[in-house]
Formats: sequence, C-alpha cells, structure tokens
Amino acid sequence: MSELIEQALQTATDTKDIVTGSGVVDRAGEVFVKNFPGKRAIIVADENTWAAAGEAVQKSLTDAGVEQEEPFIFPGTPTLYAGYENVTTVREHLKPLDAVACSVASGTLNDLTKLASGELGRPYMNVCTAASMDGYAAFGASITRDGFKITRNCPAPAALVADLDVMGAAPKRLTATGYGDLIEKIPGGADWLVADELGVEAVDDYVWNLVQPGLRDALADPEGCAAGEPEAIGRLAEGLLMSGLAMQAHQSSRPASGAGHNFSHQWEMEGHGLDWEPPLSHGNKVGIGTVASCALYEKVLELDIDSVDLDAAVAAWPDPDANDARVEALQDIPAIREAALQQSRGKYVEPSQIRERVEQIKQHWPAIIQRVREQLITAEEAASLLKRVGAPYHPEMIGIDQDKLKKTYFQAQTIRSRYTMFDTLQELGIFGDVVESLFQPGGYWHEHPTPQ
Ligand SMILES: [Zn+2]
Repeated sequence: MSELIEQALQTATDTKDIVTGSGVVDRAGEVFVKNFPGKRAIIVADENTWAAAGEAVQKSLTDAGVEQEEPFIFPGTPTLYAGYENVTTVREHLKPLDAVACSVASGTLNDLTKLASGELGRPYMNVCTAASMDGYAAFGASITRDGFKITRNCPAPAALVADLDVMGAAPKRLTATGYGDLIEKIPGGADWLVADELGVEAVDDYVWNLVQPGLRDALADPEGCAAGEPEAIGRLAEGLLMSGLAMQAHQSSRPASGAGHNFSHQWEMEGHGLDWEPPLSHGNKVGIGTVASCALYEKVLELDIDSVDLDAAVAAWPDPDANDARVEALQDIPAIREAALQQSRGKYVEPSQIRERVEQIKQHWPAIIQRVREQLITAEEAASLLKRVGAPYHPEMIGIDQDKLKKTYFQAQTIRSRYTMFDTLQELGIFGDVVESLFQPGGYWHEHPTPQ
C-alpha cells in the first residue's frame, strides 16, 4: 500500500483497510478476518465479477477460516439490476443472515451492496474488479430510482482489496471510464481554486493534497492503462481510491467533482444512454464534460477582465424571480427543473450583493488566473489523453450534438449549488458570450466539430 493511502486511512471515517497490489486477491480472507473477526461472510457478485475473481475470493475466505453463506450472484448484465429495487433484493437477502457482505464488484454492484449494508447498519468490504470509477472508498451510493440517478447516504466500505491483475484484466471500456472520472479532477480542482479565491468555499488543504499532487502521475500513462499494465492500472486505481478517501474525509464530493461533472449529471438525469448496451457510463460522460470545461477555461484565460463593465453586469443581474425563470427555461423535465431551482437558489447572489461580488471578482482576477493556469490542461490535451486510453473524447461519440452541448453548458450551471467558474462568468454577465465564443471561429468546438 502506498504511503498516501496509508495516510488517508488514518483520517477516514469508515474505511480502515485498503490492500492494493498484484495478486492481493488472495489476501481477501486475511482482510476479512482482521476487520470482521468471528463473522460469517457472504460474497455478493455478478456473473462477470464472479468469473473475474469470485472463486479466488471464496478460496481466500475459506483458507482464512471464514464460514460462508452461499454466494449471492446476479446475472451478468448490469442494466438488469442497476435500480433501487435491487438494493431491496440484496438487503432482504442479507437481513436474516448473520453475515457480512464481501462484494466482488465495481460500480453498480458495489453501490448496491454498500447501500443494502448501510440500510441494515452493517459494515461490508469490497474486492475491486475494475479501475472504473472513484466511488470505491466514497460514502454514499448512486442508484437509479424511477429513472433518475440519485445519491443515497451510506457509509463507505470498511475494507477494500484492489488486485491490480484483476483490475488490469477488466474490459478496457471499464478502465477508460475510470480514467474519464479521474481526469475531471483537473478542471474540477480549478473550480475549487476559484471558489477559494473568492471566499465562497475555502480549499481544504489536507483533502486537496489527497487528490491533486498525485493526479498527473495517475493519468500519465493512458496507453499503459488501456493495455491493462499493472503499474499503470495501479497508479490509476490509486488516484481513484484517493479521490474516494478525499470525499470520505470531506463528507462531500467537492474534492472530486467540478463543473465538468455537471455535464455528466445533467445527461444522467435525462437518462441519456441509459438504455444503451452497455449503458453509457458515468466516466465516459465525465470525460466529455472535462473537455468541455477545459475548453471554457481556455477562453477564461484569454479574457480581458478590464473590458467587463461593472455597471452593466449589475444592471443585467436577474432578481430572484427572473433567475428562477431562467433556470426553469433551461430544464424541460419537471423533476430536474425542481432540483435545479433548489440548487440554483442555494448559490444565488442577492441583487444587493452583486456589485460587491463583481468588484471582488475583478479585483481577484489576476490571482484567479494565476492559480487556475497552473492547474489546468488544454481541451486538446484532455481529448488526446482520453483518446489514448480508449475513451470517447468528443461529444458526438456519446450522441451529443453541438446544439445539445451548448445547451448543456447552461444547464450544467444550474444543477448544483457548488460554485464553479461557470458561476463566476454568470455573475460577470458574460457566461453566454463566452460559451457562444466556443462555437465561433477560433473556439474549440468550432475547430473540433467532429472527432479527429
Ligand atoms: Zn465521478
């Protein structure tokens, strides 16, 4: 285990143990005994994850003297069991058993087991089968309910076993999706710096340092990740695990999610790609959101802040009703509209305060630019990294055309109360113009109308 993970575990509220490395699946039993002494185990898997590591985990538990229930194995297609009803299925199965769940899983199945165990007030552990998302060590579970992805609070796993050989042998698209989830921490970090500089939400240095210093290294070898090389997978997996531990320490997704993630959340809530086979993944959408966010930041870096007219920005600032109307007009789906209204009100600046805010932005602008410039990569670089890992790198590749992409910039600003550069531009009264410029000659999306 790396020193970083070791350090992060000391402040983690739920997770006590993470074992990573090649061949460590054989230590699942030892980890179980250490964390749940005297307890019986039940493996929760699906047909795919069982094939990847199920028998090895079962043998390891047996060798460690752990008594086990019959494994609970879902069919192989995640679309069949991604809904909340299957949290109930797992929970009701576990309920009469005096056993701790050991899931052999990545995204969906880990979340099902996490939430089912959480609802029973029981701890659980997970054996990671793919470097496919940053939620392993995170609290909370993303579950689909009535067609919407919702996040439910529940504790993170007590222990994780991340065997790099198992994760490296996972389908490439799963690694590519984890890479997409991780790369957003670059512009997402910039968003946090902006919020910090403006005094909206301070950067927590401890949590920042769990994610950001190792990020470039974790993303450095996209070809190695695509080839399933244990060293590259190890660094990617560590980046993903550290993001989860950072969220656990911060009790929020701020350390791992900025405006780029909001593109994904918007499309997710609309159900975009949910009925594809396989369904369009979180990380694939987040990767495209990353390119979109980096493209916007390129325009930000070129911006002449002195040309922003303070009086015009103040005069154009919507009152609360007008701001609600703006949000409502952007969201056609009632449930998203309601959520977006709540979130947008949460960060709305009162008309009596807007002059002060805009003055503050103008005053802090050189510092903002200096800090985000050091943090950012270009949209071109982000797209290139995604391409090399085998992930979609252009919106067209995930069925998003330019009109929809443009609209999503505006929608993405509405769906989270979390402050990002999108809000700064909105407050300056130039968000629309800056987004528009991305689609004009010289703008990233004008120059990249199709995947290249
Ligand atoms: Zn994510």
